[in-house]
Amino acid sequence: MKLIFNYNQSNTNHTPQENDVDLPEELKRGSLPLNDVNEIQIIRHYTELSRKNYGIDTNFYPLGSCTMKYNPRVNEDIAKLPGFSNIHPHTPANHAQGALEVIWELEEILKEITGMDAFSLQPAAGSQSELLGVMIAKKYFAEKNETRTKIIIPDSAHGTNPATAAMCKFQTVTIPTDKRGNMDIDEFKKAIGKDIAVVMITNPNTLGLYEENLSEIKNIAKENGALMYCDGANMNALLGISKPADQGFDMIHLNLHKTFSTPHGGGGPGGGSLGVKLFLEDYLPIPRIKKENEKFVFDSNKEKSVGKLHSFYGNFGIIVRALTYIKSWGVDIQKISQIAVLNANYLFCLLKDDFDVPYDRRCAHEFVISAKNFGEKSTINIAKRIIDYGFHAPTIYFPLIVKEALMIEPTETESKETLDEYAKVLKTIIKELQEEPELVKNAPHTTPGRLDEVKAARKLNLRWIPNES
Ligand SMILES: *Cc1c(COP(=O)(O)O)cnc(C)c1O
Repeated sequence: MKLIFNYNQSNTNHTPQENDVDLPEELKRGSLPLNDVNEIQIIRHYTELSRKNYGIDTNFYPLGSCTMKYNPRVNEDIAKLPGFSNIHPHTPANHAQGALEVIWELEEILKEITGMDAFSLQPAAGSQSELLGVMIAKKYFAEKNETRTKIIIPDSAHGTNPATAAMCKFQTVTIPTDKRGNMDIDEFKKAIGKDIAVVMITNPNTLGLYEENLSEIKNIAKENGALMYCDGANMNALLGISKPADQGFDMIHLNLHKTFSTPHGGGGPGGGSLGVKLFLEDYLPIPRIKKENEKFVFDSNKEKSVGKLHSFYGNFGIIVRALTYIKSWGVDIQKISQIAVLNANYLFCLLKDDFDVPYDRRCAHEFVISAKNFGEKSTINIAKRIIDYGFHAPTIYFPLIVKEALMIEPTETESKETLDEYAKVLKTIIKELQEEPELVKNAPHTTPGRLDEVKAARKLNLRWIPNES
């Protein structure tokens, strides 16, 4: 069924007016074919479109590094409460005590989870939290009159790490990964010096492995006066188990939309957060929320603050959802990570004999395997073929240091049956690769065609009709 309609029917006979915007010719709409459609046809059209979408509510979505966990409906119920959903951002603090308490309480809980002394929930995403952290580092060293121009980042890091360094006009010093999947400690020792502002480390790293030399790295960084920054996007492996502040980090960001189950994908909105040790607290963005005599107040009187990062106090709806998720687990919060790590190791064990394993260690909440033994481009073909079996592909070709990488993160919200099924599908595809390679190379067969995944995202063609080109 093809539908073209216009909500405002009177517009179809529109005669040009003097103050009409002068649109370029190619953007002008000629006569508008208005098919007669009734309500149920419209409903069916949009329901049909909605079914073409793939999301965590339709099936398993094991994108490594993205923590695509289930978004519990209780989060939505709480976020929908009128007091939260209808509150105006300009409501004065004394009329918004409940909302301020929610922000304050989540900050308190994140302090407890990470061991940090202060948190800001203003950043809209992990990447913006990194930006905030590096802006803070820049200001901190400027005030100490120290000229530090470089940031150390391992080569397994997420692309946002070096991008952040560049945005703040720091130079990135890339450290290679050693045979066990850790940042190479000898190379790190060669790179560290008084010109290093920040050592930025992801723990567990993007290979899904805990950094084994962290305490040595921290000691050396401290001796050289550098700040330790933790990219905490992988906190799903550590909740209630280990505190990044105890591991020697001065700052950490958490992605609320990964670790704490708020929905994400398709560009947001998400939620970031930055936690810092006491000596960096005054640099956090204003306003800060303070509890004074059992009341919550805004404090913008912070001379050292880097300023404002986001309108108002961040993405409030995401903050409510994250707090709900944490509270629904309560004191059992460590179970989130225990199950996430167990699920990843279980699936890893099911698959490790079928694929090349670049780093054969017990993994954290995700793992990386390689399809390089099946030839070049086999990973993209496997990923396309997974679609035919009704599943979403894992993250592929990341981290960049692993050839033909598949990066799988099942999260704590998946059942053993789902993991078994996914392993079975991957094993089947490998068998197909050997017996019927063309079947895999031309996949997927159950969609209108084989899209170029980069072009499909960058050059959106909503008028594309299957089999026409
Ligand atoms: C997702 C991720 C980021 C970036 O976070 P966004 O919220 O997507 O901006 C940074 N580092 C790592 C390791 C990540 O997985």
